[in-house]
Amino acid sequence: MRNCPQCGKARKGEEFKCPTCDVFYSKLDELLYEEQQKNEQNTLKGRLKIIFAADNRKQAAVAELTHIWKTTPLKTKITLWTIFAFVFALVVSVL
Ligand SMILES: [Zn+2]
Repeated sequence: MRNCPQCGKARKGEEFKCPTCDVFYSKLDELLYEEQQKNEQNTLKGRLKIIFAADNRKQAAVAELTHIWKTTPLKTKITLWTIFAFVFALVVSVL
């Protein structure tokens, strides 16, 4: 659809929604928009955006780290712990 279904204004560029009424130009645009949002949420930039947009940034950051930890596979966790233990042992032996 080239015009807004609500106000009839012509579509500008790559916008999915009408900037005046916040209405999607078509069902396809709505789907594309959702897909874009979903993709952005999975990127580091998108995740940081969510943290910075939160009212309580510290809480959001903690929630994000918890989420990352929950979604991290066990194998990666073990590797991380091994690296951590190794670095810790190294630091302790130097001190
Ligand atoms: Zn409109």
